[in-house]
Amino acid sequence: MDRFLEIKQNLNQVYERIGAAAMRAGRKSDEVKLVVVSKGQPLEVIQAAIAAGAKIFGENYPEEAIEKIQAVDSADITWHMIGHLQSRKAKLVCDHFDWMQSLDSLHLAEKMERLLAERNQPLPVLLEFNVGGEETKSGWLAGEASNWPQLLPEIRQILEFPHLQVHGLMTMPPLTANRDEARIHFKKMVELQKYLRKQFPQSNWAELSMGTSSDYEAAVEEGATFVRIGTSILGPRPDRPLSQLTKLRQV
Ligand SMILES: *Cc1c(COP(=O)(O)O)cnc(C)c1O
Repeated sequence: MDRFLEIKQNLNQVYERIGAAAMRAGRKSDEVKLVVVSKGQPLEVIQAAIAAGAKIFGENYPEEAIEKIQAVDSADITWHMIGHLQSRKAKLVCDHFDWMQSLDSLHLAEKMERLLAERNQPLPVLLEFNVGGEETKSGWLAGEASNWPQLLPEIRQILEFPHLQVHGLMTMPPLTANRDEARIHFKKMVELQKYLRKQFPQSNWAELSMGTSSDYEAAVEEGATFVRIGTSILGPRPDRPLSQLTKLRQV
């Protein structure tokens, strides 16, 4: 089948499933925003997705993403950074992305705040939490609720940065997790969201970015406001060099 038609059908099916999952949970489908994850995918595939109606793209590697962002060059399309970001690449994200979903350390936050202050430019961000307990995963370790109070001083500092605009939370459960395990992680994120809302009631905790191709319906049922879906819409990612593959497994 034609690649464009295939992507269009996949996209429609994902929208339908998001809508059905939202309805099962008594939510409205427009509460859930779809991030089409285009890491590793060539420009033609992104253009096909745009033609089919995709509006938000998620990328993991800044250099790879910037080429696509510049080639697409459209004000209707927004780009979300969703992968672990080394602080020496913070500038690339501040210059080219619309959202930073994977803010995972105070060090990175300080660097980004400095860069954004120079430009007098705000950037919406999500704080990434690791509720699955995998050591290779990035994000603040938040698998045990008893550890949450220890996270508050760093979060407080980030909330005070004027240019980093915190909108909520993001997580990436372990790849090994099955649907039921993933749901446990999603529920924990909702608990963490409630906890942070109580601790910092003046701040904005509305957004919850969770759920990928393998578990997005459960994520929507549990309260996701962003789902990040790659392969179910764009198909398998093309083979990449081994160095990139090991990186991929870490995100
Ligand atoms: C790759 C990736 C996704 C999408 O995964 P799929 O299985 O292709 O849907 C979502 N979130 C993050 C952080 C990713 O790295």
